Amino acid sequence: MAPAALPVSAAPHSRFVVVQPIRPKLCAGCRRGPLAMLILEDAAPRCLDCADLGHLVFLARGDTALTRRAREESGLSAVVVRFNRRKGRYERQGVLVEEPALAQAEERCLADAESRRRRRIRDARRRAAQDARFAEAFAAEILRLFPGCPQDRAQEISAHASLRGSGRVGRSAAGRALSEGAVVCAVVASVRHLDTPYDRLLMNGLPRYAARRQIAAAVEARLRAWRDTGVGEEDTGTR
Ligand SMILES: [Zn+2]
Repeated sequence: MAPAALPVSAAPHSRFVVVQPIRPKLCAGCRRGPLAMLILEDAAPRCLDCADLGHLVFLARGDTALTRRAREESGLSAVVVRFNRRKGRYERQGVLVEEPALAQAEERCLADAESRRRRRIRDARRRAAQDARFAEAFAAEILRLFPGCPQDRAQEISAHASLRGSGRVGRSAAGRALSEGAVVCAVVASVRHLDTPYDRLLMNGLPRYAARRQIAAAVEARLRAWRDTGVGEEDTGTR
């Protein structure tokens, strides 16, 4: 395969197009070969050393940021192509760049990755702090409405609620989640599942509305007990 006419589009930014030959080729200058890479001068293959490109290093295609930066840093660079017989066209395989340029580009990319990693950590910390603030506010609101609710229970309910309604979803949504209705709703759900046979009734095939009716009195009693500042039924046993 004699790549007589290299497409200009193969090298939009580079003066040099280096070819990975499909068939064995010898250098027209020094007769070395077969050449892994060559450059065509007046249609004659030349090795990279004869073409004064021997000091460049190959960077395979795939990492676009690294490739772009390596070429930016490199005073001299070349595009490496190979002819794809099946598709009938040259395809880019990578670039040849100066070694220090590649090292510098790698450093810049690493620095970018590092700064992205640090930003992710900062973001995660900020979200965790928001979540914690929200959970704290939610628990405080539970205890304001239900002073008789045990503190660890309030924290458990709020932790569960903040999984969904946290600062992550924005201030207004968090505010809505802290409304009295939402707080009562979370407490009722918790009482229903933990302090009544609700889940077992559902498992036994009772429809939800019927199960809720059956446990309504028990839920009400528990909420009433928690609303009273005084001691809940099983809290101390000193009544
Ligand atoms: Zn040569």
